[in-house]
Amino acid sequence: METVSIATVDGYELSTLRHAVIRLLEPIGGISAFVNSGERVLLKPNMLSAKEPHMAVTTHPSLVRVVADLVREAGGIALIGDSPGIGGFLRVAEKSGIYEAAQQSGATLIEFKEAVELQGSGLFRSLRLARVYYGADKIINLPKLKTHEMMTMTCAVKNLFGAVVGTEKAGWHLKAGSSRQLFARLLLEIYQIKKPALNIVDAVIAMEGNGPGNGDPIELGLLVAGVNPVAVDVVAGRLAGIPADLLHIGREAISMGLPGSKFDDIVLVGTPAGTIPQTRFRLPAGLDVQFGLPSFLAKTLKNHLTSYPAADLKTCVLCGICRDACPPGAITIKNSALSVDNARCIRCWCCRELCPHDAMLVRRGLLLRTLMRFSRSKTAYESSSSEPSGISR
Ligand code: SF4
Ligand code: SF4
Repeated sequence: METVSIATVDGYELSTLRHAVIRLLEPIGGISAFVNSGERVLLKPNMLSAKEPHMAVTTHPSLVRVVADLVREAGGIALIGDSPGIGGFLRVAEKSGIYEAAQQSGATLIEFKEAVELQGSGLFRSLRLARVYYGADKIINLPKLKTHEMMTMTCAVKNLFGAVVGTEKAGWHLKAGSSRQLFARLLLEIYQIKKPALNIVDAVIAMEGNGPGNGDPIELGLLVAGVNPVAVDVVAGRLAGIPADLLHIGREAISMGLPGSKFDDIVLVGTPAGTIPQTRFRLPAGLDVQFGLPSFLAKTLKNHLTSYPAADLKTCVLCGICRDACPPGAITIKNSALSVDNARCIRCWCCRELCPHDAMLVRRGLLLRTLMRFSRSKTAYESSSSEPSGISR
């Protein structure tokens, strides 16, 4: 059985949050169960892009500060690192408040730059992760709970994709193509190659809608912690009210038989589950609808059956960020106009995730619109076969 702890907290005020984190960790042994004196402990927040804390794109700096303080008090040496999607590491650190959090706690900020080649034992035989990440004595994963256009939800497992350095992320998207299953498998194998000692989820203010870059903040007032990120994500998905069959990482974890992938194998501690109000996150617009078509048919009809990206001419400033980030090079900017080659597009939604102006829109194929009208479902959420059952057993 895997243990996952939940604590409620009212906002990000430092001393309140500190007490909540201590309360959260107490049932799983406290910080001293995870940090030994003299260890270099790398905190891995979500530092997707240069957005202010209230936008809920990045892990809140107060949580980073509290955990860094606790690591130091336990005798550890706190490092804070990531490899942002866009914007440059220092700029993201400054804008997100994590730079100041590091200064105040005496932690060292480290950008993931250099990668080290590692041998995988699963489907992916060779993986390259940041040297500083792989070399740390302990990892404390600090994800933000958000919806995710490609994977439906990003939390503990997905946050570790940040250990892949910079533009190498695009290469992995390209390798996985449009297969959510294969990408989920990659993420799970990255987690297994260097397992975090502890995962603490920032779900105080989470993100719903068009996450992970352009969604809306949603107040949950929750922290979630556990050793196993798969189990932590199962619980986080329940807290967000997202049907399990829409969670690609969770489904793949079950098919791999990973510990913690089933809710029934998880022991909940901390705040009693029955006292947590049920929530149902709005899901991203680009989520594919699952009609159970055979894969060959779905492939043939891809452009008609799926959503696809298109720039909003009114808000797009032609900065080229999406073009440079697009794994298969499906975006071109010519004669002051942006176009997307839909046949080449793998629907990874990196363009929407990284657009600083929220100018990449979701369009739906003709067949998709028709099917949705007939099925009377507007989103994958509504056409999902399983209903969210909340956190109570
Ligand atoms: S869609 Fe966004 S990222 Fe792409 S060129 Fe326009 S403004 Fe830049
Ligand atoms: S156009 Fe956007 S969704 Fe399509 S492959 Fe490029 S980044 Fe991914």
